Amino acid sequence: MKAITVEPKKAGTARYEDIPEPDVHEGSVLVEAVAVGVCGTDVEIVEGKYGWAPPGKERLVLGHESLGRVIDPGPSSSLKKGDLVVGIVRRPDPIPCPNCAVGEWDMCRNGQYTERGIKEIHGFMSERWRIEPEYAIKVDPTLGILGVLLEPTTVVTKAWAHVISVGVRTFWEPRTVLVTGAGPIGLLAALIGRRRGLDVHVVDRITSGTKPELVRDLGATYHSCAVSALGFEPDIIIECTGVGQVIAESIQSVSSCGIICLTGVGQGGHVSKAATADVAASAVLKNTVIIGSVNANKRHWYRAGEILARADRTWLSRLITRREKPENFKQALERKPDDIKVVIQFAEA
Ligand SMILES: [Zn+2]
Repeated sequence: MKAITVEPKKAGTARYEDIPEPDVHEGSVLVEAVAVGVCGTDVEIVEGKYGWAPPGKERLVLGHESLGRVIDPGPSSSLKKGDLVVGIVRRPDPIPCPNCAVGEWDMCRNGQYTERGIKEIHGFMSERWRIEPEYAIKVDPTLGILGVLLEPTTVVTKAWAHVISVGVRTFWEPRTVLVTGAGPIGLLAALIGRRRGLDVHVVDRITSGTKPELVRDLGATYHSCAVSALGFEPDIIIECTGVGQVIAESIQSVSSCGIICLTGVGQGGHVSKAATADVAASAVLKNTVIIGSVNANKRHWYRAGEILARADRTWLSRLITRREKPENFKQALERKPDDIKVVIQFAEA
């Protein structure tokens, strides 16, 4: 079968090639790939900056934002042939640490977790893949190809769950939320904010086009100015850019008792002139909480499935701005100005 593979940590090694059928040890459920979303992590892996092949192997099958159709459910009772499923990305570490032991692999303590398409397990960019039934999430069949948005939705579902669990430390009546960055993660974070009845604001550099329209169609407010120029103090900030300047301004702009959730992974950039003790003093005096959030566990996958199932299909479909064939994966990995979510489509949904 055909697959998109890469030799991790070596730039220029990605190719679309023939590989053996998926090994039965990868899971009892056999799935036909429908689509796989592309994100910044895939780009980093292809650029040789990140990623690990399975032990004893040189190459890794890429892709972690999956959608597939069950060909053979195996002995699993909960799945049947034809079901649309998405594969959970992370697997608990083998020890396991206390968090992995209770199913919170997203909070793994020792870093020995593995991840499909990223860290030591083959991903989903192959014509067929296998999965353990307990890691296959069935998606609402009416979503069709939009089910490929489940994995990014799990990331923001977890971020929101952590914001809420921090918020209830005190009397808490949040009204305003600021989302920084109008990519897929930011837009899905805004969707959840609106679902919670909040006054949602989204800030991004882009001044026109689909992103501002998508924000307005949620009943949220779009801004293309600096966070420091917004003119209000958000109760919650979901930071989705990873850009130093945006993060620094977010910390300064959040309301008293505010919560900032960092979901973007960046590097370098802004060098703050603020001394650490001054930033800390501001956080102390305002009871600020800054949380980092990555990945998701099964409860977030379940809730994200419900969020997508209830979301407006037309709005969701506008998040997928480009579909590429597997043989054209290099185009899929190129970022174009109007891209929100690009998917590689293997078969009709
Ligand atoms: Zn662990």
